[in-house]
Amino acid sequence: MPPKKKDELPKTDAGWKVKLTPGQYYILREKGTEPPFTGSLLSNKAKGVYVCAGCGAELFSSETKFESGTGWPSFYDVYNSKNVELHKDSGFLMERVEVLCKRCGGHLGHVFDDGPKPTGKRFCINSDALLFQKTPKEKWQKKR
Ligand code: FE
Repeated sequence: MPPKKKDELPKTDAGWKVKLTPGQYYILREKGTEPPFTGSLLSNKAKGVYVCAGCGAELFSSETKFESGTGWPSFYDVYNSKNVELHKDSGFLMERVEVLCKRCGGHLGHVFDDGPKPTGKRFCINSDALLFQKTPKEKWQKKR
């Protein structure tokens, strides 16, 4: 899906509920987490770009996806840093860094410091926060 402009996005919870599936709504708008090893994109090995299921913003690339063994799609870098926001989350006594879509504010997952080289980061992202787009090599290879 082409990225939506900010003013085309729903402004209320009710509006988001209509636009998203219940699974997407739970992750993106209620900061939920899908059970491990259940997400549809966990084992996706196709080459392309992962966009926000809420607004279509480009977030991650197949180029930096890796098998973390955690049960969630994992990336060691973002694809377009302009579209990703990080935010300290101390919700569960444990301090974690939340990963959000900058355009629609949707919750995507968390980032940890135990990822592979070259970044050492592990972006642990819910499948239901993402949509996969098969794109030509020129596109997914190039970081923006
Ligand atoms: Fe978004």
